[in-house]
Amino acid sequence: MSSRADSSAASPPDKRLHPESWLVAAGRGTDPEGPLNVPLVAASTFRLGGPRGYARGDGTPGWEALEEIVGGLEGGEAVAFASGMAAVAAVFDQLPPGAAVILPDDCYQGVAGLAAAGAAKGRWSLRTIGGADTAAWIAACAVADLVWLESPSNPLLTVADLQAICAAPRKPGAILAVDNTFATPLNQQPLALGATVSLQSATKFIGGHSDLLAGIATTRDPSVREALDQARTLAGATPGALEAFLAVRGIRTMALRLERAQRTAQILAPRLEAHPEVTRARYPGLASHPTHAIAASQLRGFGSLISFDVRGGAAAADAVCRRVRLIQHATSLGAVESTMERRARTPGQQHLPPSLLRLSVGIEDPEDLWADLDGALRSTVA
Ligand SMILES: *Cc1c(COP(=O)(O)O)cnc(C)c1O
Repeated sequence: MSSRADSSAASPPDKRLHPESWLVAAGRGTDPEGPLNVPLVAASTFRLGGPRGYARGDGTPGWEALEEIVGGLEGGEAVAFASGMAAVAAVFDQLPPGAAVILPDDCYQGVAGLAAAGAAKGRWSLRTIGGADTAAWIAACAVADLVWLESPSNPLLTVADLQAICAAPRKPGAILAVDNTFATPLNQQPLALGATVSLQSATKFIGGHSDLLAGIATTRDPSVREALDQARTLAGATPGALEAFLAVRGIRTMALRLERAQRTAQILAPRLEAHPEVTRARYPGLASHPTHAIAASQLRGFGSLISFDVRGGAAAADAVCRRVRLIQHATSLGAVESTMERRARTPGQQHLPPSLLRLSVGIEDPEDLWADLDGALRSTVA
């Protein structure tokens, strides 16, 4: 018994573990006498003769640990990057000249910006489609070289019918990528539905503490994995040692954090919807949300982001952001601390309702968060 226990302590974790257990067990290395956590190795260069020579192309133990954890969770092989946008750029880098790119009309502004910049330089043609227009997406799959989906979308939280779109016939060699940052692989697994690539900004829920930038792309296609790895090496878009270490530290608790945050979001969303100073609340878990039915059938959880419009326009919404105390007036999402911002103030987001606030619910007590929100909304009236 004891020798069996000894050897299993250093063997790789069982891929059949539940996601919550996998997040804790994976990415620890197999050295039977090593530390429980892959240490932070600050190295560009290794002595020749071993498995690595130079970190940019040969990898580091730290980012490989992150890749093992996320790859297992998404159900594919993961390639870690310096940021979410570095991972996005590596996917766009796969396109042949003159490629046809399809993007959702509500989309992370960095991705929309990168796609527009490439189109302006004549590298590809760009078309946008509403996230809920499933028929248009299915038609686009037949002709596009890159079908880029973001679901739920930022910040309108539109849920696309991934099951139908990922199963639609595609142009040979085309890439269907899903930005899975808002759902995380805990709520949705695009690769299992047939996506080529699932992408995360690890800056958000994976890191979870607003203290790092990282990104990760996962695929089941070995040639795509190889091409993304090569794009990372050539562009030098590698994660830093500290960032990889912190991302692994963060992902250990991702299931707990997400579970807590989305339970609180379920409490806050209907209260915001009923609030006299709120004209509209958007949350995929609300029956009033335009894509609630798809969300309910497709997502394991409705997530921890809520967008809502404040009565009185941009000035009133800005005042709410100034008045909250527990909630941080800040961009970004998916962290332990709740953050809120008026999205239309961001360049490239002027198509949004001017008073739309995007709230990323953290892990604080729900009643404390509600008191903060309600107080900030009510004092706007005075
Ligand atoms: C933040 C974000 C990105 C970009 O990730 P960075 O880590 O900031 O480079 C891409 N997509 C979505 C949905 C995001 O929220």
